[in-house]
Amino acid sequence: MSTSSLFQTYARSGLSFERGEGVWLIAADGRRYMDAASGIAVSSLGHSHPKLVAALKDQAEKLWHVSNLYTVPEQEALGQLLTENTFADRVFFSNSGTEATEGAIKTARKYFHAKGEGHRDRIITFTGAFHGRTMTALAAGGQQKYLEGFGPKPEGFDQVDAGDLDLVRKTIKPETAAIMIEPIQGEGGIRPFDPAFLRGLRALCDEFGLLLILDEIQCGVGRTGKLFAHEWSGITPDIIAVAKGIGGGFPVGAVLATEEAASGMVVGTHGTTYGGNLLAMAAGKAVLESVLEEGFLDSVTSKGLLLKQKLAGLVDSHPDLFELVRGEGLMLGIKCKGELGPILQSCRDNGVLPVPAGDNILRIMPPLVISEDEIDQLVSMLDVAATALETNSADAPAAE
Ligand SMILES: *Cc1c(COP(=O)(O)O)cnc(C)c1O
Repeated sequence: MSTSSLFQTYARSGLSFERGEGVWLIAADGRRYMDAASGIAVSSLGHSHPKLVAALKDQAEKLWHVSNLYTVPEQEALGQLLTENTFADRVFFSNSGTEATEGAIKTARKYFHAKGEGHRDRIITFTGAFHGRTMTALAAGGQQKYLEGFGPKPEGFDQVDAGDLDLVRKTIKPETAAIMIEPIQGEGGIRPFDPAFLRGLRALCDEFGLLLILDEIQCGVGRTGKLFAHEWSGITPDIIAVAKGIGGGFPVGAVLATEEAASGMVVGTHGTTYGGNLLAMAAGKAVLESVLEEGFLDSVTSKGLLLKQKLAGLVDSHPDLFELVRGEGLMLGIKCKGELGPILQSCRDNGVLPVPAGDNILRIMPPLVISEDEIDQLVSMLDVAATALETNSADAPAAE
């Protein structure tokens, strides 16, 4: 039995860290590791960003929590920053991504209920999706392995293969309320959807009077070089779920919606104790202001292109290990040929920390503040890790 008192729900690495500086994580023995995944797209400004530290310290000395029974000016401020810079008119703050997708689903269903169309409660989702770990978010994601053993699966989702608009059209029924999709699937394996497919979904929503919900929890807040990934396709969603990168490491989630889509969410319909907490709002505001600074998003785009190009070179030099690179901005994935386990281990041994994703993908999502010089270091560390693995397997006696 493990000596840890924690639930054994993770196969954790033994590595632990004491400090962080920018894109670097520093272990107790002083060893520096390149954070190539940002704690799964969370640490958007890297570690110990001075602006983020100052914002949180400043708020920590004033007030932490009052609850949503009072007006919270810090929530109004972050909400306004979000609505001024997006399609949205309304924002609801939560603590996590799964609460944001849950909130988005509730918002869509309530919209129809309030219009007297309460029978419209079904939502179309896509294979390979991940929307979080509450029971409803799991049902939306549809992955059997996560639902197994947890009792009745919440009803109301119709899952289809992504990419096929005709199939989506055929799946729409009188009970359909919304279509929900990640513009780029994260956990599913850094799978970007064709902008034409996303535009097709928007058109179907318009034709059938459905709401379009985007889960931008992983791909949002500057990760792809736009504030939100859907901007690349030119579509306007009705509702989006946001979390991860927006807090820069502090737990923050949000549902963003148009006035119309949010119209069912009146007094008493939804709530949260912690959501919109003052510390969370201070962190979120500092992150968003930084991401919206002149030139920041353009730099993510150009650094993303540079990194993708270099990773393509890495794939070419290790054809036995790697197949291809895909993704947008600083949300990239390398499709691997062999098992991910040994590759991840070799990366850790050589001081670089990507994370795995579905479809045998090595996820490369460094903090958005990574410099070009650090991009060089990141790719050469991956190169060393790949070479070490190839050398080891050439030396090893042939397996039975
Ligand atoms: C991580 C993630 C979630 C869940 O967010 P949590 O904060 O872990 O609850 C939902 N959707 C997507 C696309 C994600 O990447």
